[in-house]
Amino acid sequence: MGSLDMTFQQPTIDLSPKVSDEIRQTTCYMCACRCGINVHLKEGPDGEKKVAYIEGNRDHPVNKGVLCAKGSAGIMQHLSPARLRAPLRRVGERGSGKFEEISWDEAYDLAVSWLKPIRDTAPEKLAFFTGRDQSQSFTSWWAQAFGTPNYAAHGGFCSVNMAAAGIYTMGGAFWEFGQPDWDNTKLFMLFGVAEDHDSNPIKMGLGKLKARGARVIGVNPIRSGYNAIADEWIGITPGTDGLFILSLVHSMLKAGKIDLPYLAQFTNAPVLVNEDPKSPEFGLLLTTEDGKHMVIDRATGKPAAFDEPSVQPDLAGTLRKAGISHRSVFQHIVEKYLTDEYAPETIAAKIGLPVNRINRIAADLARVAFDEAIEINQPWTDFRGTRHEKMIGRPVSFHAMRGISAHSNGFQTCRALHLLQILLGSVETPGGMRFKPPYPKPATAHPKPHCKVTPGKPLDGPHLGFTQGPDDLCLKPDGTPARIDKAFTWENPMSAHGMMHMVISNAHAGDPYKIDTLFMYMANMAWNSSMNTSGVMKMLTDKDETGEYVIPHIIYSDAYSSEMVAYADLILPDTTYLERHDCISLLDRPICEADSAADAIRWPVVQPDRNVKGFQSALIDLGARLNLPGFVTEDGSQKFKDYADYIVNHERRPGVGPLAGWRVGVAEGQSTHQPALQHGRGAPNAAQLDEYIKNGGFWQGHIPDEALYYKPWNMAYQDWAVKIGLFDKPAPYIFSLWCEPLRRFQLAAEGHGTRQPPDHLRERIKATLDPLPIWYAPLEDGHADPVEYPVHALTQRPMAMYHSWGSQNAWLRQIHGHNPLYVPTKIWEANKFAEGDWARVTSMHGEITVPVAHMAALNENTVWTWNAIGKRAGAWALDRDAPEAKKGFLLNHLIHELLPAKGDGLRWSNSDPVTGQAAWFDLRVKIEKVRAPARSYPNVPAQTSPVGQGPANVTQKIGGA
Ligand code: SF4
Repeated sequence: MGSLDMTFQQPTIDLSPKVSDEIRQTTCYMCACRCGINVHLKEGPDGEKKVAYIEGNRDHPVNKGVLCAKGSAGIMQHLSPARLRAPLRRVGERGSGKFEEISWDEAYDLAVSWLKPIRDTAPEKLAFFTGRDQSQSFTSWWAQAFGTPNYAAHGGFCSVNMAAAGIYTMGGAFWEFGQPDWDNTKLFMLFGVAEDHDSNPIKMGLGKLKARGARVIGVNPIRSGYNAIADEWIGITPGTDGLFILSLVHSMLKAGKIDLPYLAQFTNAPVLVNEDPKSPEFGLLLTTEDGKHMVIDRATGKPAAFDEPSVQPDLAGTLRKAGISHRSVFQHIVEKYLTDEYAPETIAAKIGLPVNRINRIAADLARVAFDEAIEINQPWTDFRGTRHEKMIGRPVSFHAMRGISAHSNGFQTCRALHLLQILLGSVETPGGMRFKPPYPKPATAHPKPHCKVTPGKPLDGPHLGFTQGPDDLCLKPDGTPARIDKAFTWENPMSAHGMMHMVISNAHAGDPYKIDTLFMYMANMAWNSSMNTSGVMKMLTDKDETGEYVIPHIIYSDAYSSEMVAYADLILPDTTYLERHDCISLLDRPICEADSAADAIRWPVVQPDRNVKGFQSALIDLGARLNLPGFVTEDGSQKFKDYADYIVNHERRPGVGPLAGWRVGVAEGQSTHQPALQHGRGAPNAAQLDEYIKNGGFWQGHIPDEALYYKPWNMAYQDWAVKIGLFDKPAPYIFSLWCEPLRRFQLAAEGHGTRQPPDHLRERIKATLDPLPIWYAPLEDGHADPVEYPVHALTQRPMAMYHSWGSQNAWLRQIHGHNPLYVPTKIWEANKFAEGDWARVTSMHGEITVPVAHMAALNENTVWTWNAIGKRAGAWALDRDAPEAKKGFLLNHLIHELLPAKGDGLRWSNSDPVTGQAAWFDLRVKIEKVRAPARSYPNVPAQTSPVGQGPANVTQKIGGA
């Protein structure tokens, strides 16, 4: 038969079928990166538009069309059988998973019956904590109106060390607050970055670097993800990053490879420090009468305020004033880091790297920063009024995240990294790290924490903030903690994001006090979001001597039947991210780039087919029923119909609302609104959300060329930021290499001042709250015998998952269905492991039995696994024998929120002593081969879920009959 006949016989196939009837553009929420997506909709047989396909939005500032595996699997998140379907009231014992469906009115009535009496008498008895919530400016405002001091989101158990160290040191941090100058950097170094934080943006940035031939160095005990494509991998010993970084600082100083003009002009390196040990201001910075930091002016040799026009700060300045000697911060830096304590020869063995490799990396950094410096012909004017004809760039950039942050020495390690960046002059200069609006914003421009409770009234101010010294701690008049998580106390004085990981155990212990209602959103505390998972499940179900639950009421909101659902008394079912309104706001964690301010929305591209409600809309209803100020009008009726109404009409300050795009302009000198639309400041615009939808779901405002770099000191940037409403008047500042708030806490521990720490904390405060970055061994090292527990144990998040959401997603489960414990060659061989083997892993706190796998590209004393793949049988609508439940496991069973008691009989929190950051990665274990069990241990019994078990296959018909 000839070919012509064959063609004739072929069926007619449409090779380019129409993908969709309509495209709606919104923001992805399959992880926290907030990429823009095009959601393709097609009509189903029932006439309803259904989600057919998701692609990246090519015009979006975050992802420019790139979509990751998680993002494209959003359709399965939307169709998940684990979705909750209606409000639920517990009918069985707590933990039994037995609920009855109720109406929203019944749900609100029940919540109000618990919340109203405590608001009227003791608002602190509500603990309201949200997990991976992207609406914290709203949820915190609700909690403030309620009047409880007990609010925070999940930052305390995630990466507060990174954020707080960055903001205290330089007024900005990585990820949402700052990014490498991807277009100009020549050497990029990542520390402890797993693949889910800043996911698409980093992948796109790495792609740019690879295309240009720029060099990438990955520092991580585990060589996966970004580290796998790095030109050089440094498999550092966990918890020693700070030592490594400070040895690089030592080498730079020794070689004289630091940016002296940058340090003198833009940092507090030339500021004078009080040198008198007897002075109550010993170690504090000298100020003028109006509170400005003082330097010696090289031009005159005289003291001057740092910001006086044309002052030339002297890095070597000294001053004797009123009988007290003062020396510049820079002299302290040189003295501290040139000692042998930080010499590569001293620390090499501890961090697990040879001396010559440390020296070579230091030399590489110096060569690129100084010998390969770049210049941009763009004049700019600084805050002293000095005109600069060019922008000088040091093309070395860094990025770091949880790997260096989630240790009990993480705050000082993160500060050490910022010290290194600043010594190189590579922050806010071309080729270095760049801030994203609303940053730069120094710690002093942020609120301080507030905790004053008045029954029936709002809290006296925002909950979270940046303490500047002992006076800002959240203590009651009797010195006991004002907050249930003990944030902002002497134990963790700078806990800027709160300490969510301590809430349940403190509430259970009634320490510092008992609560009545625990209200949580999107935080799977009965499973992967808690340290000591089994202990937390018990705390949530424990009863007191009267037979009542120790935590009397638990309200929980989630979109899915997570493990935590069974432990709540009342469930407020949330929508999926395609069915809801959200704003990714400049008041919160927006989608800005270093070149632009930007914000975005989510909107219901499809309507829910269940009796569910966006959590924020439910909070608005609840706020009105509780009569909270801001949620009701003068006549007592509900002020905002729902969250969309709030997004459009709420004003945080006059003219500044949740969204900056398409506001209504008000002509100067006139009281009536003019019809013109403008961005940044302006009155609410009823059609604002329509404008966002027309523009692809986002707004972007570009920063003028003159303002693109040197932002903290660049008057063109400062003026632009005021114009769009980021702040109300120009606020230039210098970087704080010497972090004075730390020194104020140390001074108190040395006996100065009226607010004094308890005696048992004095030595720890003196040792850890050093105003210059230091390294100390992770606190668990002082408790776990290194001979008995010689192995470090870590988790990492996979690129294809975002916490427990991803590991129930039908498509993503096919990538990671279970999680072996990865074991390095040395330990693998010592235990004679073979593929298919299992091991018992034991820590000071617990024991697990898990499958093992060999991985050569791993620090030789470290084991690790993927985070949050293990599931409790019965949860998430999965088959009870799903691999996630049978072979999957959590390391959380090995970790405790408290360290074991030592000689002092006290149990210290397993957290950073500065910020309270949960020290997940301090964990030490021992490992031994065991016979393969039927399933991983501990085998937590299956739980009952209100959604039952999902079907084996999820199907959806679109595109006609
Ligand atoms: S990186 Fe995150 S936000 Fe972006 S597409 Fe992937 S899952 Fe969505």
